[in-house]
Amino acid sequence: MSYENEESENTTYIPYRYFAKRHISVEEENEMLKATIKQLQKELLKHRTPPFLVGSVVDVVKKDEAIIQLNTGKFYVKIAKEWEGKVKPDDRVLLDQKSLTLVKVLGKEKPFDVEGFVVIDKPKVKWSEIGGLEEQIREIREIIELPLLKPQMFKKIGIEPPKGVLLYGPPGTGKTLLAKAAAAHSKATFIEIVGSELVQKYIGEGSKFVKSIFEMAREKAPSIVFIDEVDAIAAKRIELGTSGEREVQRTFMQLLAEIDGFKPLGNVKIIAATNRLDILDPAITRPGRLDRIIEVGYPDEKAKVEILKIHTKKMNLDDNVNLEEIAKKLGKKVSGAEIKAICTEAGYFALRRNSTKIKMQDFENAIKKVLGKKSKKKGNYAFIYG
Ligand code: ATP
Repeated sequence: MSYENEESENTTYIPYRYFAKRHISVEEENEMLKATIKQLQKELLKHRTPPFLVGSVVDVVKKDEAIIQLNTGKFYVKIAKEWEGKVKPDDRVLLDQKSLTLVKVLGKEKPFDVEGFVVIDKPKVKWSEIGGLEEQIREIREIIELPLLKPQMFKKIGIEPPKGVLLYGPPGTGKTLLAKAAAAHSKATFIEIVGSELVQKYIGEGSKFVKSIFEMAREKAPSIVFIDEVDAIAAKRIELGTSGEREVQRTFMQLLAEIDGFKPLGNVKIIAATNRLDILDPAITRPGRLDRIIEVGYPDEKAKVEILKIHTKKMNLDDNVNLEEIAKKLGKKVSGAEIKAICTEAGYFALRRNSTKIKMQDFENAIKKVLGKKSKKKGNYAFIYG
């Protein structure tokens, strides 16, 4: 007898279909809850698992033992059974925090994507756009331009040119400009990195970054690697207390290894620049490395006039403008960058007068404005440069 046929005055009529349907939905609900529990258990496990250390394989000594590079140094570690025989040098791996056992191989280290982080350029700066600095230009042409353009000449004479140069001097005196002109005249790719950025941005990856930069330089050869603020990576270190200091030291070691690996007549050259020659580690200027050191100082009276000529070339100057006289008003410690700023500022003073001709008075106002600001700034460059 089915419920469908049962009739009573007190009981409400519930069809069998209803229970059959309800039974199915309870089973479905049960399945759903089981799946949710499984998912939650998985999530819980994730939260309970301690993080792993990420390292890279330096060498595989035995099937189950390897040397790993971590930020804190090199370690001789065991390899978990499931990865025995499957680990290769340069692999990126995960290590257990306590035992440092290698528990997973993530695959080959990705080459550092340096292209997005550095300036890669084909500059067009001409030697004639640099005022003064004739002696520096002559040296750089001999060390950088000539070997890149005519290596056979050096082979014939039987001498090896230096691998690069170190430029030092106050900010804004034309070090970058010289490096760019060297690249332009030797038709080389100009790759610029800034030491302080390298230290701050690529924590833990500095040495890998340097390696990738030089790989790229070789690919894009002929090229010039310009390292501005090289003191940020190549400063003398008295103690290597913190892991940050050790990291900078490793980056520096990689840079030295790259310089040592160069062939003097190869088609990659280095130009490094610093404002702080006094704090540089002598390792970088040892013979066979950046042993040509060139000073790029403040311009003298004649050079100031040259720089003024370059930066006023396209300006609409009044007849009363006398560049020699302007040069005399500039004082001793004025850089090419400041002279350029003075020229631009003089243009603005003319603009404010509603004139398109720049007068001597505009230059005088500009000097006051640009150099006045400088003297208000405490601890300017003169402090460390002498
Ligand atoms: P920093 O040490 O701050 O990196 P730097 O020595 O590399 O400075 P540059 O970047 O070469 O200085 O100079 C900045 C700008 O100043 C140049 O782009 C150029 O316009 C001008 N300048 C500097 N020196 C000269 C110069 N000797 N002749 C012509 N222009 C110059």
